[in-house]
Amino acid sequence: MTDPTEHVNASLHEARTAITKLVDLYFDNVPVDELEREQIVETVHEGLSDELDRLYRIDAAVEAVRALHGNDGGVCVTCADEDGQAASYPCPTVRALPTA
Ligand SMILES: [Zn+2]
Repeated sequence: MTDPTEHVNASLHEARTAITKLVDLYFDNVPVDELEREQIVETVHEGLSDELDRLYRIDAAVEAVRALHGNDGGVCVTCADEDGQAASYPCPTVRALPTA
């Protein structure tokens, strides 16, 4: 089973890269005197909407993982240590999640 935090971190990196690319592509390729407000607004709005959707999905996934690895009196309700006993909280999965 893959580590869910790898997917979250990869998705965050993709969102960050996409937003940077969006801004760089637009402002590097359009001379300042040709910038048109309407086109800037449309381009940035479309690009950011897609990336915000991605970030909302990531946030929901992180919360689902947190809920799955809840704290029950100092131990994780999902994880077990090598000895088969409940892992202490926060478990390695929760510690690996990005913090807000
Ligand atoms: Zn856990």
